[in-house]
Amino acid sequence: MFNSLSEKLGNIANKLRGSARVSEADLDATLREMRMALLEADVALPVVRHLMSEVRERALGAEVAKSLQPGQVIIKILNDALADLLGGQRRDLNLSKIPSVILLCGLQGAGKTTTAGKLARLLIGQGKKVALTSVDATRPAAREQLQVLAGQVDVPYIAGDGASAAAMAKSAVKQAGRDGHHVLILDTAGRQVVDDELMAEIREVAGAVGATERLLVLDAMTGQTALQIAEQFHSAVNMSGCILTKTDADVRGGAALSVAHSTGVPVRYVGTGEKIDAFELFDPQRMAGRILGQGDVVGLVEKIQAGVDEEQAQKAADRLKKGQFDLGDFAEQLGQMQNMGGMASMLKMMPGMKLPQDALDQIDDKPIKRMQAMVYSMTPKERKYPKLMNGSRKRRVAMGSGTSVPELNRMLKQFAQMQRMMKKMKGGKGRRMLAQMMGKFGG
Ligand code: GDP
Repeated sequence: MFNSLSEKLGNIANKLRGSARVSEADLDATLREMRMALLEADVALPVVRHLMSEVRERALGAEVAKSLQPGQVIIKILNDALADLLGGQRRDLNLSKIPSVILLCGLQGAGKTTTAGKLARLLIGQGKKVALTSVDATRPAAREQLQVLAGQVDVPYIAGDGASAAAMAKSAVKQAGRDGHHVLILDTAGRQVVDDELMAEIREVAGAVGATERLLVLDAMTGQTALQIAEQFHSAVNMSGCILTKTDADVRGGAALSVAHSTGVPVRYVGTGEKIDAFELFDPQRMAGRILGQGDVVGLVEKIQAGVDEEQAQKAADRLKKGQFDLGDFAEQLGQMQNMGGMASMLKMMPGMKLPQDALDQIDDKPIKRMQAMVYSMTPKERKYPKLMNGSRKRRVAMGSGTSVPELNRMLKQFAQMQRMMKKMKGGKGRRMLAQMMGKFGG
């Protein structure tokens, strides 16, 4: 979800270049674009306003590390503000009572039944003894669907007795207690639309069983009506959290944010696909990254702010510009990349470099280490003028680095090619190119 938002913010990040602090002018232009992008992604106006004022406050005058761009820093600030809005820290379910009752409510089609199964599976994985029950008194098919699902995830389905949903719920909880279950996941009836009868029923069920968690299952694709739905359920049963389903669907999904902002109901889990294991504990930080689609920028900013040797990077960039970048600089830069988590992780973080995961998986950092070893076996003069090496020196370097002469020759040739290309470029583009070229060494 949020694909177009991601693209727009990527453009914003790339547009602002080169200054040591985030200036008022930078901010105005960027905030205007961010605002548009967020609104277009269906994020409600009050949420957008809140985010923009947060970002303005935090960003104005913020320092921009030399190897970053103001746009990237602003994106990171937006990311953090977003994560805070989404609840800041992850929260686990309160399952201290035995049995704990987790009440699921939501509209029909939101993914309630599927979610009940997913949640059961997840809790089993945490060593809980879990049972499922449905109290949809009017739709036996809904109860059957859950029963089938219970079989699939291999947990007992408890059929509650009684004429009303509340009575069925009560009897199921009793049974769960007798059977020694830690958790009973209770699926309630859904309707096409929110109506008074549905709300009354859910309120009654919640009251009858004293559910420790009352979770609203909300379809991330619902758009702006999600807010209304959430508010109505929240006022009926005081939701303790929300589960967003279908976050994998490729739609604008800003309404989810609106829910978190307006009702204060935190998102606890997200459904990420139709399969039973497509379910995750919600992590505001990660979600913010996913919404913005700028995980790469944010990760890069974090790592650089965490203290990569800036002076060295700047020196390398200067030398790059002057065409003085030699093998020694190259090896140093490679060393920095290693410190930052290796090639694949760096490449993933470079804005504008979208490599498929399987390509990233294939990147192997070992050749980089070999390449470094070769460079460090040369004299400083040889690093600058590799052509000085004769056959016997090459053999020594190869031996000293545990490589071979053909491998050394190959590396020297690749570096010479890269140097020629880099001379044609300047500044930031050169740095990015450097990363691309290093990808060749790595891949
Ligand atoms: P209920 O009426 O609320 O119980 O909804 P269901 O559990 O029957 O789900 C409705 C549809 O949504 C089914 O086709 C599910 O497979 C699908 N669904 C549920 N959760 C997700 C999700 O996280 N991602 C996707 N893509 N589909 C989901």
